[in-house]
Amino acid sequence: MKLFEMTALELSRLLQKKEVSAVEVTQSFIERAGEVEPLVQAYITRTPETALAEAEAVDEKRKRGEALHPLAGVPLAVKDNICSCGVRTTCASRFLEQYIPPEDATVVQKARAAGMPLLGKTNLDEFAMGSSTESSAFFPTRNPWNLSRVPGGSSGGSAAAVSSGSAPLALGSDTGGSVRQPAAFCGVVGLRPTYGRVSRAGLIALASSLDQAGPFALTAADAALFLQLIAGQDRADFTTSDEAVPSYLAALPKGVQGLRVGLLVENVPDHFDAEIITAIQEAAKNLADNGAVVEEVSLPHTGASLEAYHLICAAEASSNLGRFDGVIFGRSAAGENINEMYSRSRGEGLGPEVKRRLLLGTYILCESRYEAYYMQAMRVRTLIRRDYESAFKRFDLLLGAVTPTTAFKLGEKLDDPLAMYHADICILHGPLAGVPAISVPYGFDSGGLPIGVQLTAAPFREEILFRAAHFLEQSRGPEPLRPQLSPSGS
Ligand code: GLN
Repeated sequence: MKLFEMTALELSRLLQKKEVSAVEVTQSFIERAGEVEPLVQAYITRTPETALAEAEAVDEKRKRGEALHPLAGVPLAVKDNICSCGVRTTCASRFLEQYIPPEDATVVQKARAAGMPLLGKTNLDEFAMGSSTESSAFFPTRNPWNLSRVPGGSSGGSAAAVSSGSAPLALGSDTGGSVRQPAAFCGVVGLRPTYGRVSRAGLIALASSLDQAGPFALTAADAALFLQLIAGQDRADFTTSDEAVPSYLAALPKGVQGLRVGLLVENVPDHFDAEIITAIQEAAKNLADNGAVVEEVSLPHTGASLEAYHLICAAEASSNLGRFDGVIFGRSAAGENINEMYSRSRGEGLGPEVKRRLLLGTYILCESRYEAYYMQAMRVRTLIRRDYESAFKRFDLLLGAVTPTTAFKLGEKLDDPLAMYHADICILHGPLAGVPAISVPYGFDSGGLPIGVQLTAAPFREEILFRAAHFLEQSRGPEPLRPQLSPSGS
């Protein structure tokens, strides 16, 4: 097996036994990226020199016998809306095309301090607004399982990087599904942690009450190890929690015996792809056959999550993105006066999806609309949170679909924003409630595209997600974790 085909945990073991060097591991992913990137285009910026220098430093430290983090020498790809000191961070927008952050986001700083070489910055929908990575101002990323399909979004580059073997681990952000949906489409594990579990400092804000950074990995164990590193309170983000970070890896072998699992009826409606519904039912049966107690559960207000999410997200985005005024970055040719400069810079620098949302957000925040839209959405949010609270009195875990379909075709929904929004129907209510959720690969459809199942737990119970995800992974049988990349697509 080649190094780029291994899980982070396997690489970590080899590195710790000094059977391979960090430079060899990093080189393997750089070479793999050289082969697959012309097809997949997961990265906006690749940083092979930085990665190799960081890997060399790890090897030096290991030679000197310094105590190292288990992930030291395991390289990382980072979504390009997460700041990396000295490496441009564009949010896939023309507006920030030249932006080089002066410091690392806390999550990147933790990864670098642990000795994880930075392979590069991955593609996304512009400012993380979208579900297909097609609204990137630069180019779309392609799904490694079928190059004519989208990788999902907005963290499509991170998911495709892990799936195609050009990174063993990646960071994404999930405001309304942007880690879980691309993970499902690309056949990898993707976790949205509890709101407040992972620092948002240096994650360029979309909607601050919803944004969370989260890991992409090949396995639940890899995601657990990586979450362990990035979780915890951060003085730079006052919404992070002081809740202790448990040992996530230690929870993995516990199995699912005795777990109370709620099958989320709203997330497996009849009109979803039949193969997705079958996969969820098989996962439910599998859990029940192995000692979990599975019953149906309804979260009655989640039917309103699409509207509530888009109103809240647009309102917060219009406020957050107000800082992009063209004064320092993204300036268009100077106008006659300052208003003209703002308007031309934003008019020319931002893409259509971003404009659509900023206009909506500004509209609903104006005095005469605030009560009818924003406050109403906040009330719905409270009802959804209460639905979850009462479900978690009866259940340890909720099970449902991540997406209504497997990966759709490039261009299929691009001219129909509402169809694009509807594809997110299963992944918006969790963030409104602040709960953690994971997408785990569970089989393929008849066209060979991966299917993901979603598990959701009560706040700060990520270890239960990892336990169940690990169980499903172990029991799904020998399936290829890697796509056979072929240029033809279909
Ligand atoms: N697809 C969702 C949206 O378009 C989620 C985006 C995200 O999580 N960043 O808003």
